[in-house]
Amino acid sequence: MPSLRPLTDQETSTYEWQLWVPGFGSAGQEKLKAASVLVSRCGGVGGAAALQLAAAGVGRLILAHGGDLKPSDLNRQVLMKHEWLGKPRVECAARTLRELNPRLEILAVPENISEANAARLVGEADLVLDCAPLFAERFLMNREAVRQRKPMVECAMYELEVQVTTFIPGQTPCLACLYPEPPGYWKRQFPVFGAVAGTVGSLGAMEAIKVLAGLGSPLAGRLLSCDLRTMDFRVLKVSRNPNCPVCKEA
Ligand SMILES: [Zn+2]
Repeated sequence: MPSLRPLTDQETSTYEWQLWVPGFGSAGQEKLKAASVLVSRCGGVGGAAALQLAAAGVGRLILAHGGDLKPSDLNRQVLMKHEWLGKPRVECAARTLRELNPRLEILAVPENISEANAARLVGEADLVLDCAPLFAERFLMNREAVRQRKPMVECAMYELEVQVTTFIPGQTPCLACLYPEPPGYWKRQFPVFGAVAGTVGSLGAMEAIKVLAGLGSPLAGRLLSCDLRTMDFRVLKVSRNPNCPVCKEA
């Protein structure tokens, strides 16, 4: 982590309500200010997460997302606006976040995570927030997060179900422990509401804030599974695979 700098008066007044949170305070806020977070894809899930991280005063966001805004993005991608249809999504996301928090430093990368950029982008971050829809991207970030010993918050949704867990290299399972192969049922496009994306994105942002600030108990070695159709929330223990090809040496 980079060295911490004291909060300005404007920062203290902006973050006043969260500075009152027991166990957080100005020491926690200074850690957020110094932190860089990679958010992979800033659509439904990542957009909701990035919005909360920007509002909370995380100092630097690295947003990776390719492609241009389409009408079918607008039911869940809350950083976007109707009038921006056809524009690059990552630029739309960066603009909304800067309007919310002009102190924020944003690196807007108009690409999805790939073999060509995963090591570099994970290397720029203190924490990775995995909000990518494709397992190929998720596995690349997982491999790099384990190799570079960076925590990764994993957010997933399908229909009205969400899952969140936090991987801490050397302590918890990694994504490849949980999914040795991409699950056969997984599809690029699937039925979902924006409220589901917002739920899992906000949960992921809270996990990131907790890990960065040393607050509370992250979902390390635990997986939160929520069925929003029934409002059944469960926390499951997850274990390392001692033969995991990605993390067995970590
Ligand atoms: Zn593993």
